[in-house]
Amino acid sequence: MYAGRSMLKGTVLEQGLPGGELLNTEVIEDYIGFEHVLGYDLAEKFNAHAAKFGAEVRTYHRVEKVRRVADGTFETSMENGDVFASPAVIITAGGTPIKLNVPGEIEYAGKGVSYCAICDGAFFRDHTIMVVGGGDAACEEADFLTRYAAKVYLVHRRGEFRASKIVQQRVAKNPKIEVIWHHVVDEIAGADGLMTHARIRDVRSNASRELVATGIFIFIGFKPNTGVIEGHVEHDAGGYLITDANMETSIRGLFAAGDVRAQLTRQVTTAVGDATTAAIAVEKYLTARKNGNPAPSPQPTLLSAPR
Ligand SMILES: Cc1cc2nc3c(=O)[nH]c(=O)nc-3n(C[C@H](O)[C@H](O)[C@H](O)COP(=O)(O)OP(=O)(O)OC[C@H]3O[C@@H](n4cnc5c(N)ncnc54)[C@H](O)[C@@H]3O)c2cc1C
Repeated sequence: MYAGRSMLKGTVLEQGLPGGELLNTEVIEDYIGFEHVLGYDLAEKFNAHAAKFGAEVRTYHRVEKVRRVADGTFETSMENGDVFASPAVIITAGGTPIKLNVPGEIEYAGKGVSYCAICDGAFFRDHTIMVVGGGDAACEEADFLTRYAAKVYLVHRRGEFRASKIVQQRVAKNPKIEVIWHHVVDEIAGADGLMTHARIRDVRSNASRELVATGIFIFIGFKPNTGVIEGHVEHDAGGYLITDANMETSIRGLFAAGDVRAQLTRQVTTAVGDATTAAIAVEKYLTARKNGNPAPSPQPTLLSAPR
């Protein structure tokens, strides 16, 4: 939307439907101004608003490579063979859920193993299931899953959650959730092609036991989707892209916004804020380039010395 309002021709390349993780989130309660909005509805509003200001949205094809060519422009290659040329690119590819990497995880994927509560929760009506993790996603989704499940074990490797306090309170108050602290999952097992239990281990004593559950929802973090970028780009230890205050990466003209970027928190509000800055910075970068001027300094200018 901001690119369009800056009179830039913006093309959004999306491998699925526009909306990203919003489409996997039932209700958003913390997007300022919307006390309660369905993830799907917010995604539709974002898409329509961007389109109104001229964004061209191309769906259902994956970006394979983004490459900076000799003249400083970019070539973006798609899986269907299309190649786009552009003077700047904003990467907003988000992240992919991290897997537990234990025996049975792949075998029972879709047969008990899930990474999306809103997508699969309804399949577990009156079941006993488990959630793995200790951050906001694990706690929020454990709470959400009690709408369907009779009981939810929340298995966490530490003795305290990383989730925000308000989400922790929700978990503590929910009688259907039993937290199993200091445990990790070693194996997911089943019978006749469906999950029946998991083997969990106490990290303090190493004692192992079976936990009967027909579903396991894994929320142990995300791996940023940065594989499309050809060439080295600065990133943090988790692989998240490092940007300056203008959202520009270490590659000139390549910007990043949202969950793919190294930052304190990853929310819809922060993704929207990053993207606003990135689009406006792209406009300034392109204007400077067109006029043959050096690109503006990414750092804020010190207007007065500290007293
Ligand atoms: C279960 C869950 C619940 C959440 N609840 C909340 C909440 O209540 N409130 C809140 O503020 N935030 C919440 N979040 C976080 C929020 O959804 C994200 O911070 C936000 O969606 C980030 O937006 P993004 O555009 O950076 O990335 P994403 O939403 O991940 O979008 C990335 C998009 O890039 C596309 N893509 C990736 N690679 C390619 C490729 N190679 N080619 C083409 N397209 C590609 C993907 O298909 C995807 O649509 C939640 C997240 C999860 C997982």
